[in-house]
Order: sequence, then structure tokens, then C-alpha cells
Amino acid sequence: MYGLLPNRVIAPVSLRPLWVQSAPMLNHYDLHSHSTASDGTLSPSALVRLAAEAGVRVLALTDHDTTAGIAEARQAAEACGLELVSGVEVSVSWGKQTVHIVGLKVDPENQTLKNGLQALRDFRDWRAQEIGHRLEKAGIPDAYSGALAHSNGILVSRTHFARLLVERGVVEDERKVFKHYLVQGKPGYVPGDWATLESALGWIHGAGGQAVIAHPARYKMTRTKLRTLFGEFRELGGEAIEVVSGSHGRDECISMAKHTNDFGLLASAGSDFHSPENPWVALGRLAQLPGDCRPIWADWSESREERTSRMAG
Ligand SMILES: [Zn+2]
Ligand SMILES: [Zn+2]
Repeated sequence: MYGLLPNRVIAPVSLRPLWVQSAPMLNHYDLHSHSTASDGTLSPSALVRLAAEAGVRVLALTDHDTTAGIAEARQAAEACGLELVSGVEVSVSWGKQTVHIVGLKVDPENQTLKNGLQALRDFRDWRAQEIGHRLEKAGIPDAYSGALAHSNGILVSRTHFARLLVERGVVEDERKVFKHYLVQGKPGYVPGDWATLESALGWIHGAGGQAVIAHPARYKMTRTKLRTLFGEFRELGGEAIEVVSGSHGRDECISMAKHTNDFGLLASAGSDFHSPENPWVALGRLAQLPGDCRPIWADWSESREERTSRMAG
């Protein structure tokens, strides 16, 4: 589920999916992005500056299983007048599936959240070493240390292995690394053992945040299974579904918008930006939310005003 799009192949405009060419363009809210604190290629401050240049006004930094980039991003955001939403993308095991839950407006200093994310990073570290052992057996030496060198040391993800194998010329693009080495049935596959959905929501809510199911169409679940996930998420107090995502096509956005209405959930929008080298996903270059869904940010400015008037009173 990490960085599935190739990021070193620039397709000519005519070969890009029609959805990307015709996507209406600027969305002032981009509520899903990654920095070098997880598997993005830009530092938190470079990411914020790029978002501001692209016209994004409200950006959420949502690194995988860490909030380590938030402080730097916040400082950069203040300098360039962009509103930063402190976020995180929590890895969850739901049945046999890995699902990502984005937490928005979390307090990065909340101890329960910090402990939960630390446990996930401990598992990631073990998993990365295990992937290294398995790749070694498959004839690829020193993959763990190579992937570690591609990361900033906070966590090592499969995307870092993918970048390493592309760099070494083992495989031509990152998508093929996943396909041939890192997914189920392939030599470097190690199953995920992540947080439960209940724990993830507990951490996010405990830290004062709102929970969003990230890029739901990417899980390739049947409609029935997806609706079971939405139902459980709603029962546990989850707030929103990412309706517009860098990895959703137009029909997927429309169908996710319908699900938000069926389940009484809010709608979110985020590019899931990882790197400027990926030509298909750009900061803020997102479709508008379909008109019949309620944006997760609808109450944000209201609550800020309320806060201001309370403080003034
Ligand atoms: Zn994700
Ligand atoms: Zn993401």
C-alpha cells in the first residue's frame, strides 16, 4: 500500500489517465501528504513550501506511523502563511487486509498516541530487517542497510526498499519492485501486524483528532466488504472517508461520496503526495468534492471562530 505508483517514469501527457488530465484543479485543502519523516522524499519544510507555491492553503502532514515531521512543518507553515493540520497515517490490520487510517488535528504530544505509534514503528523496524533477510536469501545482499540509508532513520518502509532496488538496477520501477518482491507470494513479503481499527481510532480520538479512512478504493475490496469496513468504522466513532484521493479515479470518487451519505460520514480530500518525481500526484491538484457530501473541514473554521470569540469573551 505504500508508494505504488512509479516515480521515475514520466509519462507523456497523452498517456496519462484521462481523469488526471481533466481533473479540475486546485483544491485549497490537501489533507494527506508525506515527508522524509516517513517515506516521502521532501523534508517537512520543503513539502510545506511546495504546497504553498502550488496554492494549497490548508495542508495536512500525515506521515506513516509518526508525527516526527510536524514541528518542522508547522514552523515552515507559519513562515509562508499556510495553515498546517497536524496529522498521521496509522497502519491498521483489518482481517487479513492492511488499511490506513488518517488522523487529522491530532495533538502530536499526546502520550497514548505516541506510545501507539512507537509500537508500530518497532514492528516496522523488525519487518524491515526481516525483509532484508528474505531478500538476501533471494540473492539481493545488504538490502536492509541500503533501505535504511534511503530513509532518514525514523522508519524504514517498503518504499525505501523499492527505491533501493530501482537505484541498483534490479528492477526498473518501484511498482515492479512491489509486484515482484514485496507483495504476498514474493520473496521479500512479510505480513503486516499493525494496530486494530479500534486502537487506531482510540489513539486518534484520544489525541483530539478526527479519523479518516484513507484511499478506500485502493484496497480492492468487494463492495460488501468495503461497506462492512465503513460500518465498523462508523460504529467505532470514525468521522470521514477520503472521497477524493490522488489514487482515486472519477468513478471511485463518486461512489465513495455516495458511501459517505449512506453511512452519515464526512468527506475528506488528499493527494497522498510522496515525491515531486511522481508525475501523477501533485500537491493540491485534486478534484473538488462532489457537491452532495459534507467536507470534514466544514466545521473547522466555525470552531476557530468560536474559539476566538470565547477567548475574546
Ligand atoms: Zn496510505
Ligand atoms: Zn499516505
